[in-house]
Amino acid sequence: MITTTVSPALSENLLATYLHLHAHPELSMQEHETATFIEAELTEIGLEHFRCGGTGVVGIDRNGDGPVVAFRADTDGLPIQEDTGAEYASQATGTLPDGREVPVMHGCGHDTHVAAALGAARLMREREAEWSGTIVWIFQPGEETAAGARAMVDDGLWDRAPQPEVIFGQHVFPFPAGTVRLTPENAMALADSLRVTIYGRQAHGSQPQDSVDPIVLGAHMLTRLQTIASRELSPLDPAVVTCGTFNAGLKENIIPDRAEFTLNIRTLTGEVRHQVLAAVERIVKGEAVVAGAPEPLIEELYTFPRMYNDPSHTERVRQALIGELGAENVAVTPPKMGSEDFGWLGDSIGVPYVFWMFGGADPKDPAPAGNHSPHFLPVPEPTLSTGVRAILAGLGEYLGV
Ligand code: ZN
Ligand code: ZN
Repeated sequence: MITTTVSPALSENLLATYLHLHAHPELSMQEHETATFIEAELTEIGLEHFRCGGTGVVGIDRNGDGPVVAFRADTDGLPIQEDTGAEYASQATGTLPDGREVPVMHGCGHDTHVAAALGAARLMREREAEWSGTIVWIFQPGEETAAGARAMVDDGLWDRAPQPEVIFGQHVFPFPAGTVRLTPENAMALADSLRVTIYGRQAHGSQPQDSVDPIVLGAHMLTRLQTIASRELSPLDPAVVTCGTFNAGLKENIIPDRAEFTLNIRTLTGEVRHQVLAAVERIVKGEAVVAGAPEPLIEELYTFPRMYNDPSHTERVRQALIGELGAENVAVTPPKMGSEDFGWLGDSIGVPYVFWMFGGADPKDPAPAGNHSPHFLPVPEPTLSTGVRAILAGLGEYLGV
């Protein structure tokens, strides 16, 4: 066991770190200042570190013989105009890859993840006599675009850092601060985003006989795509097929020559993912044949991997969390259809992992805003100290002497 009292000094440091990060969010894969800040903190704590995957940072705490355990915190913000009314609200702006200037906000709470991980790294260093082994601290960029975990692995993360026996991560969500939740096995969804371009034939709106109407064709595709989840899959296999954009045409009396829509697909297992993607391709191409249109173009925009919490490690971590926070503050919850690229850090080398959620909502707030809302604002405490205690509970379970 490692004693995990968060001292007033550490608490002050945690808060200062969090407020700085909250006011200085950066877009995915552009976390340059955040990375520099993390590097300076790691140097001050006394840890060796290196850059990985562009704006990713890895800190290593070598503390004698023993297991190697990794912990990951993601570092990116989102293109959202913050509307929380907080004194420390973000005024930051950034540039999206397509060139648009946008406001930037830590709208998913990754600032709490980084602050808690740095606080835990500091505490583990202070308490070096109480544990033995190696900790790999992974500060991962680009979670929101599913690019960061892959970028770090592709940049040789596991050739440059010792390979761990287990990897942990955590995420803040709007349930009561002071509590944590975890889900064994498939905890979050695999996600795929696709763009479909439909090719028709342009004609005057009064002359439909001269056209192949891509809008009517697209409407048929979208209607039938909704039958994948409702008619093709077992009711016991959750799946979401959402069409988030549909664009076509410039004027009401012109049948356009093309239409374009995007899909967001969520599934919980690789098998169901494969089944849904195959059905999308069959329906999109099949409807085009029925309409006498050329074959549509289907492009992958991004893909999030699985998030499979190893059941035996999850149980071990759950017991450790109960030991630290009390049974009344640790719950097992059903899977979420949100997605994470965290799983790739472990799945890329066949190492098990455990990802838990910690609460960020004021327990007195009856309707806290959710992640990605412009109003999302975790209460600093007890959110941050709970994040630190949860990390130490997990690490202590494996490394404690
Ligand atoms: Zn998010
Ligand atoms: Zn997030």
